[in-house]
Amino acid sequence: MRYRTFGKLDFAPSALGFGAMRLPVLAKDSKDGKDGKDGSGPPRIDEQRATDMLRRAVEAGVNYVDTAYVYHGGESEPWLGRALRQVASDLYGPGSPGLAELRRRVKVATKLPVSKMEQRDDAERLFSEQLERLQLDSIDYYLLHGLGAGSLAKLREFDVLGWAERALADGRIGHLGFSFHDEYTVFEELVDATDLWEFCQVQYNYMDEDYQAGTRGLEYAVAKGLGVIVMEPLRGGQLARRPPQAVAALWAAADVRREAAGLAPAPLSPVDWALQWVWNRPEVSFLLSGMSAMEQLDENIASAERSAPGTLDDDELETCRRVRDAYLELSPIPCTSCRYCLPCPSGVAIPEVFEIYNEAEIYSGGAAAARFAYGWLAESERAELCTQCGACEEACPQKIAIVDWLEKVQQFLAVGE
Ligand code: SF4
Ligand code: SF4
Repeated sequence: MRYRTFGKLDFAPSALGFGAMRLPVLAKDSKDGKDGKDGSGPPRIDEQRATDMLRRAVEAGVNYVDTAYVYHGGESEPWLGRALRQVASDLYGPGSPGLAELRRRVKVATKLPVSKMEQRDDAERLFSEQLERLQLDSIDYYLLHGLGAGSLAKLREFDVLGWAERALADGRIGHLGFSFHDEYTVFEELVDATDLWEFCQVQYNYMDEDYQAGTRGLEYAVAKGLGVIVMEPLRGGQLARRPPQAVAALWAAADVRREAAGLAPAPLSPVDWALQWVWNRPEVSFLLSGMSAMEQLDENIASAERSAPGTLDDDELETCRRVRDAYLELSPIPCTSCRYCLPCPSGVAIPEVFEIYNEAEIYSGGAAAARFAYGWLAESERAELCTQCGACEEACPQKIAIVDWLEKVQQFLAVGE
């Protein structure tokens, strides 16, 4: 594993962090009675597979695991609490000494669900609940989750930073940061809001160089001495899928060049390209990948072991820019499948509906492919159930005009254009 620097902190993070937001889940029709869908809730985590992945990651040298109160409908933190104990027991033997050993090796991060706060005492109440879920008495890296415009007013109203300062002083929080989904100007405002921040977490990938915090945000945070964690390096998995022809042709040409130059490995996979693009930036402390299968973990570990700042040359960076332009021309809805818009009160499976539409556009399948995929979606989750209440649009960090897009998707499926 390669290790990097983390702002001014005395911790060398692994290039790859373990994100616990897209863990493997049980099949909808699993026969063990653990059916993940009751009509509204998210699929249940496949704990055995998820824990096996965490163990493999730790053995490979991954030393940072990231969860949040809201991930997997609130089940990610309790899973991680159990998984840490299991992995500690497997690697060091059962009991507290093993867990303490693992805690020295692997840092645990989670996030305060600021959007769920309604009064001053909620920070302490939610934090205590998180410690209980994780079965821990402290959190190494604690983030205020998903800050954006308007967050500062809420932080001030409930004195969240005052509460965090006390939790830092009494050792229940090791280091404080925030995760971010909004425009660049808001990012600057948040970075400058307090001296308590030691790190931040931003969405960044070759599609989003100029989006949200973007490259400017990276540079700003680093200039202020913060560590920068990158999330969504594969844009919610979009950049890991089989690329459309226009994109595949660009990668193929770049691979020919790598081969001619004797660079290994050639060819690089689309995942490799996307991850190496992020690791190429010296401002990036490390990236988090939300992996759903052991194969994805293995691929990411192998990629991380080849990573370093400045590994892509100008031609390769230009290829990535051209790939971005090709995708932008093909992918109409910028949904990252983060699921912050859920649950929809009418049951609409917003990210799944958008994925069907985007994939039909990207893979040139058109309305026929979209109708086929739509046939697999439960009727209780379809776009036509939308009552246009607008709740999802307020929650969407990508600021997608969800209501308009749902109407367009319906029209697309109806007229076949
Ligand atoms: S606007 Fe439509 S899709 Fe969005 S939350 Fe309301 S009913 Fe659901
Ligand atoms: S519509 Fe927005 S909030 Fe919902 S999954 Fe997509 S990006 Fe996330």
